[in-house]
Amino acid sequence: MIGGAIALELARAGMRVGLFDRQQPGEEASWAGAGILSPAPENAGMFPLVPLAKASMALYPEFVAQVEESSGQRVGFRPKGTIEALFSRDARAELSTIIALHHGVGLRAEPLSATDARNLEPELSEEVEAAVLRPEEASVDNRALTRAVLGAARHEGVEIFSGSGVKGIWREGACCAGLLLESEKIEAEWTVVAAGCFSAQIEGAAGYAPVRPAKGQMVALRAENLKIERVLWSDKIYLVPRNDGRILAGATVEYVGFEKGLTAGGIEKLLAGAIELAPSLTNAQIEESWAGLRPDSPDHLPILGPTDVEGLLIATGHFRSGILLTPITARLVREWITSQRVSVDWDRFSPLRFATTGKAPGRKMQT
Ligand SMILES: Cc1cc2nc3c(=O)[nH]c(=O)nc-3n(C[C@H](O)[C@H](O)[C@H](O)COP(=O)(O)OP(=O)(O)OC[C@H]3O[C@@H](n4cnc5c(N)ncnc54)[C@H](O)[C@@H]3O)c2cc1C
Repeated sequence: MIGGAIALELARAGMRVGLFDRQQPGEEASWAGAGILSPAPENAGMFPLVPLAKASMALYPEFVAQVEESSGQRVGFRPKGTIEALFSRDARAELSTIIALHHGVGLRAEPLSATDARNLEPELSEEVEAAVLRPEEASVDNRALTRAVLGAARHEGVEIFSGSGVKGIWREGACCAGLLLESEKIEAEWTVVAAGCFSAQIEGAAGYAPVRPAKGQMVALRAENLKIERVLWSDKIYLVPRNDGRILAGATVEYVGFEKGLTAGGIEKLLAGAIELAPSLTNAQIEESWAGLRPDSPDHLPILGPTDVEGLLIATGHFRSGILLTPITARLVREWITSQRVSVDWDRFSPLRFATTGKAPGRKMQT
């Protein structure tokens, strides 16, 4: 989806854009994700991501409206907030820590008593001791959004070449002249590598995008007469309600290479966590299960921006937040390509931080 959204944004800016995908685009991580839109940092290492995540969150309503209009498809955007349920005996202390952490990075978070939480979400377990409401968070049906982004891109004139695997970057000295396909060269003034967790397999991109796959298993449940409105979290899993009545439970994080098999242990963990959080799910039907591969970088932060090869940009490594970060990624890449300036500082995410070229991270491309 990241590549599709960048292509859409560039086409809207009046550029001629081709999107090359080795299969049908939209069938990898962007299809497999849960679609939670949460700028809250999962741990201290993710703090640098918060400004970018907040900027993307702020763009989401407009992004959704434009994509829906241009594609004629709905994307299941649910700006209803999320609730984090706390089970521990120390829930009060935990609650103050979580609230302070959110306020410290300028994110809204409100403490809820167990009763208030169950008034908002009656399916929550009786064992929940307290909860945190994050009213500005949301979710989107990422499968529908990815389809719609690609539809909108086509509508805006993007040429999509499915089944066109990219072998490498076409280098001409210090410049990128375009792409190398199996038996063809594609000339381009600008080339953006956005191949998710596979980006490191593209010759000439690996040094800038040393990503690896982080497998996530997911389960979709359906239960009659059971209503969950918001995304619900525990410390083990999350539940994501969809407009069609499905409730997704996710997700594992596993470093097992490029395989997407489901495991008994993975599914057991998801189901046990789901039932602990919302006990009525015991009787839910299992509708679907799948796994996908998140693009993870060595510091778990995205890899975004120009390289020291003129005309070559990288947009990958979005790890667990790629659906959230799609609008800002597309916006910043378009800003850089059209004006060599960006409206949100992205130096921290520079592809040069991993490259062995000796250049300082964030240095602007030489022309
Ligand atoms: C289980 C799970 C749950 C998740 N939950 C969330 C969530 O709740 N919220 C959130 O924000 N994010 C979530 N994510 C993360 C998010 O899905 C990813 O960060 C995001 O989808 C990455 O998008 P992408 O376009 O970079 O990669 P992908 O969607 O993987 O797309 C990469 C594309 O590159 C193509 N490609 C690969 N190699 C080549 C090549 N050599 N030549 C041409 N094309 C190539 C592929 O075919 C594919 O179409 C989740 C991910 C998973 C797996």
